[in-house]
Amino acid sequence: MQIMAHWRDRARYTVFDSAYGDGERTGALIAAWRADPQRPQHLHVVALASGRQPGFHRMPQTDAGVTLDLLALPLDTALAELNAHLDFICLHAVAGSAFARPLARLTALGARLAAPALDDEQRAALTAQGFVFDGASGAALFASRKPRLPVTPEPVRHALVLGAGLAGCALAARLCARGWAVTLIERHPQVAMEASGNLAGIFMPLLSRDDNVPTRLTRAAYLYALRLWAHMGGVGRAFDGAACGVLQLARDAGHAAVSRLIAADNTIDPDFARWLEAPEAEALLGLPAPDGGWLFPQGGWARPGSVCEALLATCGARLTRRFGVGEVTLERLGDVWLARGPDGAVLAEAPTAVLASGAGARSMALTSDLPLQALRGQVTHLAPGAAPQLPLVLCREAYLTPSAHGVTCAGATYDLDADPALRASSQHENVTRLRALVSDPHAADAAPLAGRVGFRCVAPDRLPLVGRLPDFSAAGATERLRDVPRHPGLYGLLGYASRGLIWAPLAAELLAAQLEGEPLPLEMTLVDALDPARFVLRARRGARPTAPAGADIDR
Ligand SMILES: Cc1cc2nc3c(=O)[nH]c(=O)nc-3n(C[C@H](O)[C@H](O)[C@H](O)COP(=O)(O)OP(=O)(O)OC[C@H]3O[C@@H](n4cnc5c(N)ncnc54)[C@H](O)[C@@H]3O)c2cc1C
Repeated sequence: MQIMAHWRDRARYTVFDSAYGDGERTGALIAAWRADPQRPQHLHVVALASGRQPGFHRMPQTDAGVTLDLLALPLDTALAELNAHLDFICLHAVAGSAFARPLARLTALGARLAAPALDDEQRAALTAQGFVFDGASGAALFASRKPRLPVTPEPVRHALVLGAGLAGCALAARLCARGWAVTLIERHPQVAMEASGNLAGIFMPLLSRDDNVPTRLTRAAYLYALRLWAHMGGVGRAFDGAACGVLQLARDAGHAAVSRLIAADNTIDPDFARWLEAPEAEALLGLPAPDGGWLFPQGGWARPGSVCEALLATCGARLTRRFGVGEVTLERLGDVWLARGPDGAVLAEAPTAVLASGAGARSMALTSDLPLQALRGQVTHLAPGAAPQLPLVLCREAYLTPSAHGVTCAGATYDLDADPALRASSQHENVTRLRALVSDPHAADAAPLAGRVGFRCVAPDRLPLVGRLPDFSAAGATERLRDVPRHPGLYGLLGYASRGLIWAPLAAELLAAQLEGEPLPLEMTLVDALDPARFVLRARRGARPTAPAGADIDR
């Protein structure tokens, strides 16, 4: 095979295929890679695939040396949104020639092309971009030396990760899987003692008519989380929870009307989301649902702390836990970051540091310029019998989980104060909304004050911050994300707001890919929407951030 001679002795080899089809060609390629003693350490296949929800889909693989990205987008859009250095390109049944320029932008010097069915115009367009064809065959070599995407230098694979909640544990897992040594530092003695400590978090995507950026991001995150969890053994098996489905009731007739329009577009896979009119929703629920609702059949709930433990269990000996160390500060000394405990003693050092510290980032000097808010939330815990026993998660302005381990969770409040204690007024708010949700004015009557308080870390646009952290003090008159000065070796995984369960897996995978210089698992438009430096540009432009459309999970 031409490709095997080309990939010999490489550390990483990236193949682009314009038609995944039934996956047979990719399967054969992976089999050939496995069988070749001189294979590259890592094979990355990026292939266009139809029949999925639009966007990039990273498919977890059993073989740690293989990555597969399926791009459910038209060729031109996929190439414009891709960030990768391609070593081998297979073009099958492509139309037009507009793809040639964006393809060349992604192609590594010396890359090979196999394109047996090009027309003259396509050949000419590719030739103009630097592909040199071997006679009349469809094989070509890429010989252009024009500057391409910047290449990430080989990293020193050791990171400090500050914070053992969903964000930090997910990153530890993705970095250890890539051979990194990770020192995970946490002020508390165990994982998930702050925002990630709730008994139940809900997972579901967002929908919108215009398929806006928050909708695309939550879809990508939700689908990646579902695939990763299935790969780990499944929700309810790998960790505590249930993929029992989520029914999101329409808020009113107007919301139902918009929902019907979204459903009528007919682009949504029914396994992803299904609009139910009132009779169907009521039959499923056993309760009134006068305006109908969206069913997310693969949604559900999970206990975030058990997800954290399951993720850390995959890390093996590459993970060092430094837990129970109190309030930690970070300091740059030469080429490394030092993590210091409250007494000033150095707990660990590494060239790369990642702040996965949730609302705690607000009190750290390095991140104090980021516009992060801590939003208090109180969840109410109800004993069996205090609320209807549901077959799935029900939500609207509030949510109610099915009972698990003798507790039903109803929540959650959204408060601006910093009171860490349970309070009766928040419980009253939860119970009032619960009664409206289940159409029962007596639900949770006389329920004792019980539950949990946590603080969400929230950015003004409600989207996470994923990537290298900006240096606000050095920002000057910057106009573009790529020109914003950054702290050397300092990254953030912050602002997971009310969707930590689904943000954590994809954000960790994205950051790990950025650190390694791998093809990214997400469209560039969406990567930019998560870039922590967006707030430097917004501060300069004086722009008002916009909140994403659609209901939040817990409000
Ligand atoms: C009431 C409520 C309801 C929610 N409902 C849902 C839901 O239904 N679905 C969903 O997906 N999400 C939900 N969330 C959000 C979800 O819980 C969070 O998005 C997620 O837990 C955030 O994870 P994290 O790792 O970023 O932060 P955290 O879990 O807060 O972890 C940060 C860690 O960093 C540590 N840390 C911080 N600073 C320091 C320091 N200086 N030194 C040492 N350690 C430090 C902290 O101790 C903490 O353990 C809810 C949150 C709340 C509060």
